[in-house]
Amino acid sequence: MNIVLFGAPGAGKGTQSANLVRELKMVQISTGDLFRKAISEGTSLGKNAQSYMDKGMLVPDSVVIDMVDEELRKLSGKADLIFDGFPRTTAQAVSLENMLTQHSLKIEKAIFLEVDTQVLLGRLTGRRVCKSCGEVYHVLTKAPKQEGVCDKCGGELWQRPDDKEDVIATRLKAYEDNTSPLKAYFLQKNMLVTVDGGGSSEEVFNRLKEHLT
Ligand code: AMP
Repeated sequence: MNIVLFGAPGAGKGTQSANLVRELKMVQISTGDLFRKAISEGTSLGKNAQSYMDKGMLVPDSVVIDMVDEELRKLSGKADLIFDGFPRTTAQAVSLENMLTQHSLKIEKAIFLEVDTQVLLGRLTGRRVCKSCGEVYHVLTKAPKQEGVCDKCGGELWQRPDDKEDVIATRLKAYEDNTSPLKAYFLQKNMLVTVDGGGSSEEVFNRLKEHLT
């Protein structure tokens, strides 16, 4: 089953995608991760995307859509795709449908992770990420054994530049203005599934799995 996983920043899209990849062997396409990879590689795509990401703004539709199109070509033949953080606008949703049609694929469910704004803020401001392996921590709810050091690989933990408080406000507004309308879009297409994204990663994953197995 191919799904879209969407929700506000901090809703747990990345965490739940990782759970789905690990336990259900699904294949994740995260536009945020693809941009961060391009930034770390210093490509022109990365430089362009970073100018928007650092401010908390959405990267322009045409840039994101071209990148996903290329990724879909690379993944040709793979099943059980998770679109994590894409689409984030109605134009992207329409393009995704068209691109998938070209590969004889379709989205079966668009899963909205619903999380209270105060919880989102707590998750985002406390998030720390391993620079080497990408493992995600939280200063209060999932602290590493040694401060600043990844339990898994010993890499350095850092705060994503867009998880700083001033940038978070812009990201939440971009979500409200552009991504929140996708609930109505997917509802009208009979694809919307709303999952309570509050609580621990395991609790959310158990709720999520009910819709996938
Ligand atoms: P994420 O890792 O999903 O939180 O994405 C981090 C940032 O990457 C976002 O705040 C945007 O600046 C950019 N980004 C990721 N996915 C998209 C998308 N589908 N459309 C526009 N911008 C995106």
